[in-house]
Amino acid sequence: MQDFYIYNTITRKKEKFEPINPPHVGLYVCGPTVYGNAHLGHTRPAITFDLLFRYLKHIGYNVRYVRNITDVGHLESDADEGEDKIAKRARIEKLEPMEVVQYYTNRYHQNMRQLNVLEPSIEPHASGHIIEQQEFIKKILENGYAYEINGSVYFDVEKYNKNYRYGKLSGRVLEDLKSDTRQLDGQSEKKNPFDFALWKKASPEHIMQWSSEWSSGFPGWHLECSVMSTKYLGEQFDIHGGGIDLLFPHHECEVAQSTAALGKESVRYWMHNNLVTLNGRKMGKSLGNAISLDEFFSGDHKLLKKPYHPMTLRFFILQAHYRSTLDFSNEALQAAEKGLERLLDGMKTLEKIKPSAKSTLNVTELKEKCYKAMNDDLNSAMTISHLYDGIRLINSVESGKGSINDNDLNELKDLYRSFVFGIFGLDTPRNAKGEEELSGKLIDMILNFRLEAQKNKDFQTSDNIRKTLNKLGIEIKDKKDGFEWKIR
Ligand code: ZN
Repeated sequence: MQDFYIYNTITRKKEKFEPINPPHVGLYVCGPTVYGNAHLGHTRPAITFDLLFRYLKHIGYNVRYVRNITDVGHLESDADEGEDKIAKRARIEKLEPMEVVQYYTNRYHQNMRQLNVLEPSIEPHASGHIIEQQEFIKKILENGYAYEINGSVYFDVEKYNKNYRYGKLSGRVLEDLKSDTRQLDGQSEKKNPFDFALWKKASPEHIMQWSSEWSSGFPGWHLECSVMSTKYLGEQFDIHGGGIDLLFPHHECEVAQSTAALGKESVRYWMHNNLVTLNGRKMGKSLGNAISLDEFFSGDHKLLKKPYHPMTLRFFILQAHYRSTLDFSNEALQAAEKGLERLLDGMKTLEKIKPSAKSTLNVTELKEKCYKAMNDDLNSAMTISHLYDGIRLINSVESGKGSINDNDLNELKDLYRSFVFGIFGLDTPRNAKGEEELSGKLIDMILNFRLEAQKNKDFQTSDNIRKTLNKLGIEIKDKKDGFEWKIR
């Protein structure tokens, strides 16, 4: 097994990765709240932890990867106020909340497939773990770190902070939080404004509510991750990941909840990816610059100069280290598009090279450099630059300035296939896109035959073609100067 080093947010340093029960690894990552289309902000955690999942498996670990779906309890404001995000969408669209959840979960999965993100081992829903969440609350209450008031249960941050340290993960200090939140302390029933809800009593019109010994209500958002991570990975597990935007309050509250309930910290290594910006600005729905992945792939957004292939996006993200900031712009994406092409072209050249008796290039050294970079806290940016160096060597062999023997050639092919396709996952959807393009061209061709038939007044053939394509789910619209089609 390779020595893998990982930056641990809670200790703020790189540590040698030592799982609790090797070769098994438990990995938990906060997934999406499914109330809208996935956008660029969703891609970085998805791809970062997909890379981690793939790499850990590649170096021999047996990984159980849990990525949750939040479908209840995520309110509009972090201060336990506002409407539930799912319920709000259901109200506006006049749907059942679970219809909203199913629809956007399906859309999210489709986008993840396009990005060649592997499916997690378990994908639990918060709404499917209400009983477990209630049990967890009871433990926290029993241990004295929560209080009930008017049918709601809140976490007692001040009490917890006496025995443990609240703010350990994010580096915040309770005293600062006190002065920050004092002004906001209005009509709240909480003892302190920084206390957070474990269970909220629901108003009668609230759509999603469950009975409990405290009230008919719903769990607080932070609770589900403490509960589902320990349920599926054990009271102590290896890695917890998510975007850095979740560090506070979400993950800080998770640390507090798990410690309060279990008497010990659950997570060995906390791992956070940095955020993405768009043309140098923070991205968000409320800022009007959140581009959905569908818009991104179709190019149908005013900020996009063209459509971008999912693999361009994937490569763009992998070209930066996951802890550095990453700015989306048309220029940067087009550079990534060219960069990926250069890498894949180099691999095509590699497949064509004929071996010689001796080698002028050092494949072992290149391989070691690639692993060294990956083992250094998943430095995909550095690994890709080594792979580019290798492409230069490959091109020099192709142009007759160097040579490679049979053994080295096979090793080099293996290295590129396992890094570019296996670890970086830069393959399948590209082929899928090729197929998509091909079927598009075939439909055009058939419809041109149909036009030809119409011109020859062979309306039966024209009609047959239309009916057959309709059956396949292809809708045809005749235009004055030709046709339009779309897949239903
Ligand atoms: Zn979470």
